[in-house]
Amino acid sequence: MSFTVAIVGRPNVGKSTFFNRMLETRKAIVDDESGVTRDRQYGVADWCGKNFNVIDTGGFVPDTADVFETEIRKQVRIAIDEADALIFMTDAATGITDLDDSMADLLRRTTKPVFLVVNKVDNGDRLLEATEFYSLGFDRVFFISSMSGSGTGELLDAITELISEDQSGEVLRTDALPKFAIIGQPNVGKSSLLNALVGQERTIVSDIAGTTRDTIHTHYNMFQKEFVLIDTAGIRKKSKEKDDLEFYSIIRAIKAMDEADVCMLVLDAEKGITAQDISIYSLAARKGKGLVVLVNKWDLVEKETNTARDYEKMLKQRLAPFNDIPIIFISAKDKTRIFKGIEKALEVYENRQRKIPTSELNEVMLKAIESYHAPVVRGHSIKIKYVTQLPTQVTAFAFFCNFPDDIKMPYRNYLENQLRTHFNFSGVPVRIFFRKK
Ligand code: GDP
Ligand code: GDP
Repeated sequence: MSFTVAIVGRPNVGKSTFFNRMLETRKAIVDDESGVTRDRQYGVADWCGKNFNVIDTGGFVPDTADVFETEIRKQVRIAIDEADALIFMTDAATGITDLDDSMADLLRRTTKPVFLVVNKVDNGDRLLEATEFYSLGFDRVFFISSMSGSGTGELLDAITELISEDQSGEVLRTDALPKFAIIGQPNVGKSSLLNALVGQERTIVSDIAGTTRDTIHTHYNMFQKEFVLIDTAGIRKKSKEKDDLEFYSIIRAIKAMDEADVCMLVLDAEKGITAQDISIYSLAARKGKGLVVLVNKWDLVEKETNTARDYEKMLKQRLAPFNDIPIIFISAKDKTRIFKGIEKALEVYENRQRKIPTSELNEVMLKAIESYHAPVVRGHSIKIKYVTQLPTQVTAFAFFCNFPDDIKMPYRNYLENQLRTHFNFSGVPVRIFFRKK
């Protein structure tokens, strides 16, 4: 289980500035980040060792003037339904506007924690003016400057205080069944795939009125293996209002992802891979989830000798740097290779469970290190003495060495490649830490 914070507020109050600042904190701490920055509306924040999902709802609102207010109100209602806590962001430079007032009306009605954040409080004068925001009637009020970062630490402290240990980071699960999430954008064929796998009756189950679960779990038994399929496809269609919001399907996908061991990302072969697909994919990778890509509607693609090979090559380029993953071409409609997709998800699950014995790991990796040493930094050579796989749910390795801070990304990538060459971690994001011996 994990904790989700949604940022709501009208345009230009500074939501995305704040959002980017929150995610940067994590970047500085975690060393497995690729350094590739993408436009994201959601991500994982890490503050004092606690992780939580952050969603910037602003990225989902089309800013054409006429639909504006209704869209924002919709977005607030969904955020209230879906998130565990809300950040209601306002702007000290403009003061309280009518739209702020109308959002506050909605937000005061929820029992979920709401953090009223007054942004752009860049100096003392602004702070004095900003006290008018107390009139909105929220208990938790924070004055920050997203630009300079002032006040953001206290805010993050207050948010993480709400997060219990088992809502943050890795949860040691008691039930041992592999859990696969079917994720992807609307209309790529998730429901069709699920129906092809588990039959039509499942859709009926999901239509039961008053279903309050965020995700549907379907217990499955196949190839003498048991697993659980997690999906959100059926629920998405529950309410018309929610149906048309991309934000809604994404927030659900993130929940499904949090519950899963392996994510099956479904793409539409004709449409190809979009920026949103890549964002969801890299979020799953950052969360350390296993990944399989299913290219659906392959029946619609005109094929020549190398079509699949070329398509796979193109996908891998787009998915880099983490692209050691199974890619399967399927048709949910014709039921082509859909079981292959499940088989691969099971393989990835096994790969993610795998713990390499320390002796074997050292034998292989120390040899690889011997044949290509980390470059000398500031006159001293770097000696890696020992490597061990960490006993964590997310696949991770610690390399013990004399100057852990001096090992740079290219050498880290070399080590990851060596791990992938010698052991099968297909579909599994790998974290690498350098520790002082
Ligand atoms: P969003 O539409 O709510 O996501 O707002 P943005 O993050 O795009 O910010 C809108 C504008 O406000 C940008 O020009 C930002 O540079 C500016 N801004 C954001 N935070 C601050 C702040 O703390 N102080 C000041 N002075 N400007 C800010
Ligand atoms: P979801 O929104 O991701 O759950 O997508 P749906 O399962 O509702 O499918 C969206 C549309 O794509 C429907 O019209 C399906 O009939 C169609 N579709 C799904 N899978 C396939 C496929 O493999 N081939 C073709 N040709 N159409 C498909």
